[in-house]
Amino acid sequence: MKSNDVASAEVLILGSGAAGLSAALRLAQAGRKVCVISKGTLAGGSTLWAQGGISAVLDEDDSVEAHVRDTLIAGAGLCDEAAVNFTVERGPACIEWLIEQGVVFTQAEGEERGQRLHLTREGGHSHRRIVHAADATGRAVETTLAALAESHPNIVVREQGVAIDLIVDRAARRVLGAYLLDRRSGRIEAVRAKAVILATGGANQVYLYSTNQFGASGDGIAMAWRAGCRVANMEFMQFHPTSLYHRDSRSFLISEALRGEGALLKLPNADGSAGDRFMPRFDERGELAPRDIVARAIDHEMKRLGIKHVLLDISHKPAEFIHEHFPSIHQHCLSLGLDITREPIPVVPSAHFTCGGVVTDLRARTDVQGLYAAGEVACTGLHGANRLASNSLLECLVFADAAAEDLIRELPHLPEPPALKPWDESRVSSSDEDVVVSHNWLELRTFMWDYVGIVRTSKRLLRAQHRVDLLRREIVEFYRHYRVTHHLIELRNLVTVAELIVRSALERRESRGLHFTTDFPQTDAVAKPTILVP
Ligand SMILES: Cc1cc2nc3c(=O)[nH]c(=O)nc-3n(C[C@H](O)[C@H](O)[C@H](O)COP(=O)(O)OP(=O)(O)OC[C@H]3O[C@@H](n4cnc5c(N)ncnc54)[C@H](O)[C@@H]3O)c2cc1C
Repeated sequence: MKSNDVASAEVLILGSGAAGLSAALRLAQAGRKVCVISKGTLAGGSTLWAQGGISAVLDEDDSVEAHVRDTLIAGAGLCDEAAVNFTVERGPACIEWLIEQGVVFTQAEGEERGQRLHLTREGGHSHRRIVHAADATGRAVETTLAALAESHPNIVVREQGVAIDLIVDRAARRVLGAYLLDRRSGRIEAVRAKAVILATGGANQVYLYSTNQFGASGDGIAMAWRAGCRVANMEFMQFHPTSLYHRDSRSFLISEALRGEGALLKLPNADGSAGDRFMPRFDERGELAPRDIVARAIDHEMKRLGIKHVLLDISHKPAEFIHEHFPSIHQHCLSLGLDITREPIPVVPSAHFTCGGVVTDLRARTDVQGLYAAGEVACTGLHGANRLASNSLLECLVFADAAAEDLIRELPHLPEPPALKPWDESRVSSSDEDVVVSHNWLELRTFMWDYVGIVRTSKRLLRAQHRVDLLRREIVEFYRHYRVTHHLIELRNLVTVAELIVRSALERRESRGLHFTTDFPQTDAVAKPTILVP
């Protein structure tokens, strides 16, 4: 049921991606009343754009042990083994649940080895275990769950509602609700809730280039931090090596399958044409080296030469081959006047996935009573220092289920929240300086890209810390004096997240997984998570 009017909810769920919607449906199906808030439309977030699929042990040749092992290897010694076991063991039941909800996955042809579902294999996986809906898995999951949530009598859906902050009883360390901005009316209200689930996704928009949509501004991580929760492993930001560099196209991913089919990475000549290959200088596997090595090599060349992008060239392949294998990439580039059968594609690495986040236990509980976190916002210990492909949607489903299971048990024992203090609007006036917000936004994302990107040094990190500090003061000042807007809320959260990333990166005096610093290139014998305490 859609509504603009929510004064209180039994469970308030902030976010409507795979994590938020599956938690909402599980609770609603158990008879609990929930309210789901999305700052955009209900079917949005990164989930909608996920292409590859969801990992789960379903093939008879596969095993929980093998999936656990692959995850631990990807995580570079930093995964929490209990969290990995917990997630992997619950994977098949979550896929079954999605099928029961009506998600249609690609089926196996001729019942391959007794399997109903077609399973693909991705980098880092030792077996075929990726369940998918053609190349638009996220869309299939998101649209199915959103339609169910909208029509469920126990679920109130609120679109265009931005959570500003959690309301917490500091003495009791208990969540009481959240302040919400209605983007349409500009009104801010205090919503009471016995429990709140943060399902707000990642923070990848803190970088200039990102495969994520604009909303991925780390709101949940920043809100939880302000509410007194620990945040962990924020230095491990995963970069996808190749997204399209074009002024009229943001966030468009150029699949790794291109390199798999022979596309070559080249440096641009002064006239923009394709010059020399560079990957063989970095890794003997060339363009087929793992994601993080390719991303690091591109970043190195871009910084060394001061260039804005490199080139990915597949034009040596027959045009029919390219049309047949990469129809959507070909079409998208053509719509921008770029014919990839004849010219190389300008590409840059882009921030793709936030491995760290709000610390939770195996029931998705945070440090504040009644406050849960699930999905990309959380740090459950599953990913460690690097995420294994297709483990993120799995994590959303497993921990949303864990949160719902715990809440179904705990809700009867949680106290009713008291009446809440309304938002104080008396001291704020509208700003005519929106340009400050957009300038700060660009400045933050640019220096995060330049100083806290793929290859780090202590000097660059300290420089970034100084800039974050200045910007944070300016933004807080602005926030105190002017009417709160959607963009100001996101900017305030982004600067907090930037601060957490820089602090975590400075604390790690080694290179591990996604964190690489030329000042400490070694990997220590003992792996420790970076846990920041507010
Ligand atoms: C292009 C792309 C491809 C990917 N492919 C895969 C893949 O194949 N397999 C895989 O496992 N993973 C993949 N990922 C990663 C995966 O999609 C995400 O990690 C996952 O979808 C995150 O889900 P979520 O529910 O945590 O958050 P999201 O789906 O990002 O949803 C976040 C929700 O929170 C809401 N929100 C945020 N802030 C606020 C606020 N302040 N107030 C109210 N609402 C708020 C948003 O409106 C949105 O509804 C991919 C990601 C991208 C970007």
